[in-house]
Amino acid sequence: MKTEKLEFDVIVVGAGMAGSTAAAIAAREGLKVAVIERGQKPGAKNYFGGALYTHALVDIYPDFFDRQPPLERPVTETGFWFLSNDGVVKATVQGGLVDNDPVDAFVALRSEFDLWWSEQAAAEGAFIIPKTLVTDFLFEDGRVNGVKTDRPQGDLYAPVVIICEGVNNLLTQKLGLIDHDVKINATALAVKQLISLPAKDINARLGLPDSNHGMAISVMGDVSMGLSGLGFLYTANSALSLGVGVTLDALQESGLKPYELLQRYLEHPVIAPLIKDGQMMEYGAHLIPEGGWTTMPRLYTDGVLVAGDAASMVNALHWEGTNMAITAGKQAGLAAVEAHKKGDFSAKTLSVYQDRLSELFVLKDLKQYRKMSAFLKNHPNFMDIYPTFLNDALGMFFTGFGKPKGDLYKKIFRSLTSRRPLLKAVGDLVALGRAVIGI
Ligand SMILES: Cc1cc2nc3c(=O)[nH]c(=O)nc-3n(C[C@H](O)[C@H](O)[C@H](O)COP(=O)(O)OP(=O)(O)OC[C@H]3O[C@@H](n4cnc5c(N)ncnc54)[C@H](O)[C@@H]3O)c2cc1C
Repeated sequence: MKTEKLEFDVIVVGAGMAGSTAAAIAAREGLKVAVIERGQKPGAKNYFGGALYTHALVDIYPDFFDRQPPLERPVTETGFWFLSNDGVVKATVQGGLVDNDPVDAFVALRSEFDLWWSEQAAAEGAFIIPKTLVTDFLFEDGRVNGVKTDRPQGDLYAPVVIICEGVNNLLTQKLGLIDHDVKINATALAVKQLISLPAKDINARLGLPDSNHGMAISVMGDVSMGLSGLGFLYTANSALSLGVGVTLDALQESGLKPYELLQRYLEHPVIAPLIKDGQMMEYGAHLIPEGGWTTMPRLYTDGVLVAGDAASMVNALHWEGTNMAITAGKQAGLAAVEAHKKGDFSAKTLSVYQDRLSELFVLKDLKQYRKMSAFLKNHPNFMDIYPTFLNDALGMFFTGFGKPKGDLYKKIFRSLTSRRPLLKAVGDLVALGRAVIGI
């Protein structure tokens, strides 16, 4: 039996944040777009902390909030918690610049949000194909002109393929756009639990006035057991999302199991009361491509663009991944549209994608933070010594009643220098500054 050749203008691999965005933008401009997703449905395979960022969402759909998106709590308080083994210093901000309408970030559950986000792409005209794995590419005259899938007669043809396959970028590797597998020193494994709790308990325990207030917290110190990594806490409507991510090589060297780290975090004396009597709803693990700029593949070639985690577009310090994926997805969609207008799908035409991203926060920030991953690995003190010192120093300062303050400051100073000689501590701060500024 002769089967019809399945032809599209654009094929997108992966219906995550990057993929559904690229599809929506290209379909909106009248292109025939297929999005191929290996999960049972979009979102089924996706997992994060986490918060979505308003700027990226409204950039794609200016009427985003009128569409009744499945969001959890707005982020009205955010910042760092520095854990010692039995205490915490909280450096969070609420009100002021965080009190925007709408706020700048919303907590979300990806299983729900990604499905909804893909439905918005479908409403623009994109054709979503779930339960289908893209296994390889099709070529004509040495150029990609489609994909092979795991379905019988599952070849699909298009002059542009946008790879949004996420962190495990096997197809990107297959095309030779990057010459290595996931790098264990630049990739974190994050483990997380979503713990269900009555909203009133969440509010009372975290000091939130009501359920229209929420938190996004990065946790440093006694959460990663001295390994290069960060923890997090996010408030959903009736659940807390708590997790910890550490680099794969640090995990391997330490011999620790990821679930041991998470368990220890959940049993920490500051964290345990927050989740008391909660029910675990989800437990999962996911990789984060923290290498950013240093592990980025080539972003385009003839007939192909790469966006999102597949292209290592994550700023781990700021937990920015979804907004990079959405912004890159949009630019990939636009580049595909321009290529169709020209009738030219060469790397030269598609290079406009990288040019545009270079002018936006995506490549600007990834380039600026290119030394951050190596910095964190080489300065484990920021994961244990300094958070503990901060707890001790403030603890001493605020309990130094009735003591000569000269002695108090000497004690605080000794508490630092007994852990880290002063010159080395100054050197650590300078190195942090250089990693942040990117010099
Ligand atoms: C624990 C954790 C916390 C995080 N917290 C935050 C946060 O708070 N804020 C934030 O902005 N970012 C956060 N991130 C990062 C963010 O989740 C990612 O950067 C973002 O999801 C990347 O989107 P993407 O579309 O590139 O990839 P993904 O969302 O991973 O989507 C890739 C899709 O491709 C599909 N796929 C893969 N291969 C194939 C194939 N061969 N064929 C068909 N389909 C395929 C997958 O099933 C998946 O649906 C966090 C990540 C983790 C792990």
